[in-house]
Amino acid sequence: MITTDLQLTDELRQRMHELYRHLHAHPELSMQEHATATLIEQRLTALGIENFRCGGTGVVGVLRNGDGPTVAFRADTDGLPLAEDTGLDYASTATGRLEDGTQVPVMHGCGHDTHVAVLLTAAELLTGAREAWAGTVVLVFQPGEETAAGAKAMLEDGLWGKAPVPDVVYGQHVMPGRAGTISYASGDTMAMADSWKVTLHGKGSHASQPQDSTDPIVLGAHIITRLQTIVSREIDPRRPAVVTVGTFHGGLKENIIPASAEFTLNVRTFDPAVRDHVLAALRRIISAEAAASGAPEPTVEVLSTFPRNYNDPDATAALVERFRQVLGEDSVAEIEPLMGSEDFGALGAAIGVPTVFWMFGGHDAAALDGEGPVPMNHSPFFAPAIEPTLSTGVQAALTAILSCLGR
Ligand code: ZN
Ligand code: ZN
Repeated sequence: MITTDLQLTDELRQRMHELYRHLHAHPELSMQEHATATLIEQRLTALGIENFRCGGTGVVGVLRNGDGPTVAFRADTDGLPLAEDTGLDYASTATGRLEDGTQVPVMHGCGHDTHVAVLLTAAELLTGAREAWAGTVVLVFQPGEETAAGAKAMLEDGLWGKAPVPDVVYGQHVMPGRAGTISYASGDTMAMADSWKVTLHGKGSHASQPQDSTDPIVLGAHIITRLQTIVSREIDPRRPAVVTVGTFHGGLKENIIPASAEFTLNVRTFDPAVRDHVLAALRRIISAEAAASGAPEPTVEVLSTFPRNYNDPDATAALVERFRQVLGEDSVAEIEPLMGSEDFGALGAAIGVPTVFWMFGGHDAAALDGEGPVPMNHSPFFAPAIEPTLSTGVQAALTAILSCLGR
């Protein structure tokens, strides 16, 4: 249980709110979280917590407090290319540049600012109550969650060679549930995701001379239609899978057959064997349809790969029991796995350590009981209620950490 020493004081709660509003007003794009990383480093150093950079704009804090287990807790730090439309007085007006140089508005539209404010505040409480716990806490401030680049970058930069290897890795995400509540899944928690860009190569000609062309539009139409048979005809219907083609571009004018066309696709799966089958079927169909059209082999570029996010059932059951004690029975609910994706799972999978990831509600009752759905993550209107959202996030983080390290 949380000891009284670890309760938020009004003063610390106010500082957490200021920190949150500052982060919200200053979001940065994935893998460009330079000011955010500097702020985190300064806060950790001010608390006397040793820290280092990892994976570019990632920051790791190591809070040691004698012998005991090691727990890692992850907070992601990036914003989204999105124009904020919440009307909040601390709304973002920030801009950033995508990799291709395009200038875009930037918003903390997924609530990662809540994750950072919560973890820094939990760290402050832990440093002030060393008698209440023993062991080591590894604070992982991870960049680039939205592009699936961040966990990978930290692991490739030797995260678990530089930081103590944990016995468990925890993480949490704000969602549009009732503030003050937690939801979780046991086992599969969020889907794996694979995104590809496919370029179809053909031969252009005048629209009136189709005999001189290899039409990439017709080829693309056949491929895209047939891709829908992977889930409907090849996968056991009891196992979830999604294949979505989100873009299809080709040509500039109705009377010109273009020389190329391209589409992007997105796959969601839970079972690694299902994922392997879907990805192999994609390649088979793309290749075979190109051959059927007499076109050259299409070019496939992998855009992103989100790993499995699997909650260790034993570690989850033990933690949920603690959550119920601290937050109350009615504030903790089991949910179905989410088809959304996260790169969090990679942090534990890389070292074969169990992970547990849960959601904490971000909307007050009035918003949820009002008319229409509340704006969810990635909406320009996404605006979590500051309280009790942030305090619940801190409580949940401390409950998880102290479930392993509490005296
Ligand atoms: Zn997101
Ligand atoms: Zn997110």
